[in-house]
Amino acid sequence: MSDTYDYDLFVIGAGSGGVRAARMSASYGAKVAVAEEYRVGGTCVIRGCVPKKLFVYASAFHEEFEDAAGFGWTVGKSTFDWATLRDNKDKEIDRLNSIYIRNLKNSGVEIIESRAELKDAHTVHLVGENRDVTAKIILIATGATPNGHDGLEGAEYTISSNEAFHLDTLPKRIIVEGGGYIAVEFAGIFNGLGVETTLLYRGEEILRGFDHDVRVTLHQEMEKKGIRIVTGNSFTKIEKVADGLKAHLSGGEVIETDAVMLAIGRRPKVDGLGLDEVGVKLGKKGEVLVDAFSRTNVENIYAVGDVTDRANLTPVAIREGAAFASTVFNDKPMSVDHSIIPTAVFSQPEIGTVGISEEEARAKFGEVDIYKSTFRAMKHTLSGRDEKTLMKLIVDPATDKVLGCHILGPHSGEMIQAFGIAVTMGATKAQFDMTVAVHPTAAEELVTMKEKWVAPSVEAAQ
Ligand code: NDP
Repeated sequence: MSDTYDYDLFVIGAGSGGVRAARMSASYGAKVAVAEEYRVGGTCVIRGCVPKKLFVYASAFHEEFEDAAGFGWTVGKSTFDWATLRDNKDKEIDRLNSIYIRNLKNSGVEIIESRAELKDAHTVHLVGENRDVTAKIILIATGATPNGHDGLEGAEYTISSNEAFHLDTLPKRIIVEGGGYIAVEFAGIFNGLGVETTLLYRGEEILRGFDHDVRVTLHQEMEKKGIRIVTGNSFTKIEKVADGLKAHLSGGEVIETDAVMLAIGRRPKVDGLGLDEVGVKLGKKGEVLVDAFSRTNVENIYAVGDVTDRANLTPVAIREGAAFASTVFNDKPMSVDHSIIPTAVFSQPEIGTVGISEEEARAKFGEVDIYKSTFRAMKHTLSGRDEKTLMKLIVDPATDKVLGCHILGPHSGEMIQAFGIAVTMGATKAQFDMTVAVHPTAAEELVTMKEKWVAPSVEAAQ
């Protein structure tokens, strides 16, 4: 332990990145404390990935009940009870929260349940306890917070994903604004739970940055499931009326609804942290600027996770936390490679993706080979459900390397974890082809795509 300071490491924020950094640093012998103003576990565990996925499971059952008929089952009348789902989810989150607390304690990390703000580069003020502590190294791991709709009249009637997890009652109608991860996931959840759902997006096509085929196909599939998608529009006003809300759109339409959820991005949570005062440089969105080793411009202050706005994903924050601990407390400098990150979007159907999109590949490499396949999953031959699965590979013709692998369909999140290994290793299309197919699966399509996709000629399209 440092003689001069109370702690070797003080972590602000007990989310995925902060907890990993704290535990690993303690395992290397550091005296560590972590401050958390809300609940240990952070966004992912408390009001993000984990409860979201539980809600996704819940919302998929009604299709399972319908699909069962084609397989000979008669399923009785089904009803859904929101309070049961919400409360069971809360119990599971409480369980995970206590595991996180226990693991931190078992690692020798002191947990301080208080908001923490920087007073100077080595001093942290614990707001809840009204006292100061000092640390040799400080790690900012405060995450991000949902963006509000600046200047929107009636913004006070809107909710974010934070509140969506705790609604007293499920609305009958909802409008979700945004076209990113959270918007498409929650639109699917609400729709699946029986809420009349509209997705409102300001751009031309949802999921900007994803492969175009994936974006278009998801859009079509979501509409087939009953979600209304309104593009090229945003809110101009939300008005409270006797039996709900009236949402005024930029295109002139007025939609009556019971709830409006904003999912229009998240911003780094740095307000009031004292970063300006100690001279930590922030970027345009308020993100803490760091080098490859997560170090800020102030020598003893580091930052990991969403607050740095590098790749805002839990597994990335965990890696950054681990790399920080190894670098600072284990004398083994480690940086995180953000260049290739497999990810899943738990839309319905879900998306699994690794590497770059066709559009990005063409911009970077010029000519690329495309292999793609759209088909009905085997289960739906009997269920009769009209749902497409899409699989797509982007290949660099010069090296035969698979640059991108994109899947839209059931279990694609699970599939992409394994295909992610291959793409991260730099596998070639020939190596994909060498791999024996696992039959009968949907994933086998990715190792059996022989024909390059050729854009239909103008004559053929006519
Ligand atoms: P995203 O950045 O994914 O999407 C934000 C969306 O809001 C975009 O469609 C954007 O439009 C739109 N938008 C931004 N500003 C405005 C505005 N002023 N008015 C109207 N629309 C606006 O953010 P999310 O909030 O969905 O998610 C935050 C992060 O959380 C993601 O980046 C992701 O990394 C992470 N996450 C990951 C999940 C997963 O791994 N499955 C699940 C949930 C979240 P435009 O495209 O035009 O900019």
